[in-house]
Amino acid sequence: MSNWNESADFVIVGSGGGSMVAATAIKDAGKTPIILEKTDKVGGSTAMSGGVFWIPNNPLLAREGIADDAEKARTYLDAAVGDVGPSTSRERKDMFLRQGPKMIEWLEGKGIPFVRYGGWSDYHDDLPGGMGEGRSFGVELFDINKLGPVWSKRLRVTEFAVPAKRAEAKHLPLIKTSMKAKIAAAKIGLRVVRNKLLGKKQVGTGAAIQGRMLKMALDHGVDLRINSGVTDLVEENGRITGVVTQKDGKPWRIEAREGVLINAGGFAHNAEMRKKYGPQPASTAWTNANPGDTGEMIEIAKAHGAALDLTDQAVWIPTSLPPDGARLMNVPDLPKPHVIVVNKDGKRFCDEAQSYMKNGQDYYKHNAVPAFAIMDARYFKKYGWGFRLGPVPKSWYESGFVKEAPTLRALAEKIGVDPAGLEATVERFNGFARAGKDTDFNRGAKAYDLVFGDPANKPNPGLGTIEEAPFRAIEIWPGDVGTFGGIVTDEFGRALREDGSVIPGLYATGNSTASVMGKTYPGAGASIAPSFVFGWVAARHALGQMPN
Ligand SMILES: Cc1cc2nc3c(=O)[nH]c(=O)nc-3n(C[C@H](O)[C@H](O)[C@H](O)COP(=O)(O)OP(=O)(O)OC[C@H]3O[C@@H](n4cnc5c(N)ncnc54)[C@H](O)[C@@H]3O)c2cc1C
Repeated sequence: MSNWNESADFVIVGSGGGSMVAATAIKDAGKTPIILEKTDKVGGSTAMSGGVFWIPNNPLLAREGIADDAEKARTYLDAAVGDVGPSTSRERKDMFLRQGPKMIEWLEGKGIPFVRYGGWSDYHDDLPGGMGEGRSFGVELFDINKLGPVWSKRLRVTEFAVPAKRAEAKHLPLIKTSMKAKIAAAKIGLRVVRNKLLGKKQVGTGAAIQGRMLKMALDHGVDLRINSGVTDLVEENGRITGVVTQKDGKPWRIEAREGVLINAGGFAHNAEMRKKYGPQPASTAWTNANPGDTGEMIEIAKAHGAALDLTDQAVWIPTSLPPDGARLMNVPDLPKPHVIVVNKDGKRFCDEAQSYMKNGQDYYKHNAVPAFAIMDARYFKKYGWGFRLGPVPKSWYESGFVKEAPTLRALAEKIGVDPAGLEATVERFNGFARAGKDTDFNRGAKAYDLVFGDPANKPNPGLGTIEEAPFRAIEIWPGDVGTFGGIVTDEFGRALREDGSVIPGLYATGNSTASVMGKTYPGAGASIAPSFVFGWVAARHALGQMPN
């Protein structure tokens, strides 16, 4: 037998989305879980995220009497995701749909306060079973001081985690034109001041989720260790029986009697893996994933026989790169009026307001890396750019990040785009904007396209002409918030070999796996939700509590 330094019932590699639900379920059964986190911060990309879950037929919808059901959700997943390999099998999709709502009820029972994000449409709401009202939700703001002096410092919190409720934050991109947005900003400002006076450290978004998950796990007595990267799995007679981690700079072998769950994220920061598996060109400088997203657990699982799939997928985010080194996620910018996205021929090639993942896929498919956002003089005045709500900085012009010209032809020449192509495209698009209907790509036709539109713009909130000089251009790159492919798992989260057989003792969830969502992003929260659900399912399977 192996020479163990320590024994536990269940070992979880990484403190990602599914880790703390899994560990708490193991604790509930009176068993011992250990979470091993490589970095000095807990929560992974999940803690840095917008903190949105996408789970159809969830109890929040039911409580508000909004019609959704398992069959409608199944129809939607079939239409949007389809069957693109084993990760999207009937069994896995059904497991996600069946266990997702149950997990939310279980978490509510543990005191997690969820809030529905009404009107955040499914991203393909025009498909059968799609819902314009959306199936997304998050959690209430969380005061990280509740974690105590030690753990509050260990939670991965970004500047993104302002104490803004979703109902307020959704208005902010329209701050220059909308009174609702100004009121929302004032409310957030007041909350910041009040928190300072009361000594609270309230956060929203993913930090609120992982803060609450961490509190839940700690309250249940879960053993969570930071600076404890896993460097190998231990395999005995074809079964994964434990892991090798580090303690005091030396290898430390931990037995995992009931199983090991890999919840270690993807490989967004691993240039070599991105080159090996992903579309090109790509750069680790374009990703927003957490710094621990380096993919070694995927390669380690592969070395122990796990099959990999969908490794060319990522949750792409149209991204621009201003001179201060920031990455601006342009998700709310491109669906607005007075902007289009073109390729080198000066042609549009997709619905700019479609889901961010589909946008990235289209940039690669149409050889548009980078693509170019083209806007007219009204755009910056009305909408700003990239969550920068104030005036556009001078340095953006000086550095050439924003290119400006008095005519479309001159702009095209400046950015190396075909001038005749751009002029023709804009003329055609202006016709669509005046008519309120884009007959080329149907932009502005489905509910999701208008989530970030401008309601004051007529006739279509998402289509506005590009005709007032000066004209401006910004390069758009396929950034991402994480890779979306990896270890192939079954409906219980068990890792599978190439021949479809199970690797006993090894489970995986989240971005370490090939997603149940396949090559599609069905709605806001389609990454965090399956990470949680399959983490929960895996733990209960290891406990012998599945199926139920
Ligand atoms: C800004 C931003 C906004 C986003 N918004 C949303 C959103 O609202 N909804 C949504 O669904 N998705 C969103 N995403 C994407 C989503 O956050 C990620 O896809 C998801 O959180 C990945 O979760 P995970 O469970 O796979 O792992 P993660 O949360 O990434 O955690 C993995 C952890 O494993 C650790 N680890 C890695 N290797 C090892 C090792 N060898 N040993 C031990 N530990 C290891 C890492 O350090 C990390 O802490 C967003 C992402 C970003 C960056």
